[in-house]
Amino acid sequence: MAERLPAVFFGHGNPMNAVLTNKYTEAWRRIGQETPKPKAILSISAHWYVSETGVTITTSPRTIHDFGGFPPELYRVQYAAPGDQALARRVQKMLAPLPVKLDESWGLDHGTWSVLRHVYPDADVPVVQLSIDESRPASFHFEIGKRLAPLRDEGILIVGSGNLVHNLHAYAWGRHMPDPYDWAVRFENDAKAALLAGEFKPLIDYETLGRDAALSIPTPDHYLPLLYVIAARQEGEIITFPVDGIDGGSVSMLTVQIG
Ligand code: ZN
Repeated sequence: MAERLPAVFFGHGNPMNAVLTNKYTEAWRRIGQETPKPKAILSISAHWYVSETGVTITTSPRTIHDFGGFPPELYRVQYAAPGDQALARRVQKMLAPLPVKLDESWGLDHGTWSVLRHVYPDADVPVVQLSIDESRPASFHFEIGKRLAPLRDEGILIVGSGNLVHNLHAYAWGRHMPDPYDWAVRFENDAKAALLAGEFKPLIDYETLGRDAALSIPTPDHYLPLLYVIAARQEGEIITFPVDGIDGGSVSMLTVQIG
């Protein structure tokens, strides 16, 4: 059995992080350097949020520039990591009888490549993306994460990419960096405390947590990848936060590492 790999939730934030060097990207790079090289990566990105569960099956997944209004250099980025058909089929089997589509249309969206470009700059680790079924409740996503956890013992790095707090209505695009909103700070602190205590139930039932959670998670897409990652935690494993910070007042850049 291979050494168990961690599972990591990355707060990806602004797509420009793909081409910047800052405290977030430096922490992401360190994670790549300090983690045993995976055989492959299974990535759950906020930006593949669709009406079904699917896995990418292509051998050369395309780099998807799924954003608008950014400088040309960001559109020039290519992240040419190969796919891994065996991993895609293994995920499909592990989740049966849930229907999992072997998808040839998607590739790597910026939730995946804006982070992996720093974690594995040589793009030499195969990557498979798993979609988030938008029609399902949070508990469903946590359950999928639990079922995929054994992959960690098979040399697979499970990656979630989103943001714990992600409110773009309140986000200060391009303006002078404002102080974080009080509700964002409170929700992040509460979530960290729950994570450290291993109390995942309130994080799954986040819709019952009141105003701070509602402002922090106006839509579930950026939050749900966290549930896949924490669900992969095994008894007694430590949880660490390799980097944190709140960007633009309302986007938590917290990274959560299991194991
Ligand atoms: Zn995003």
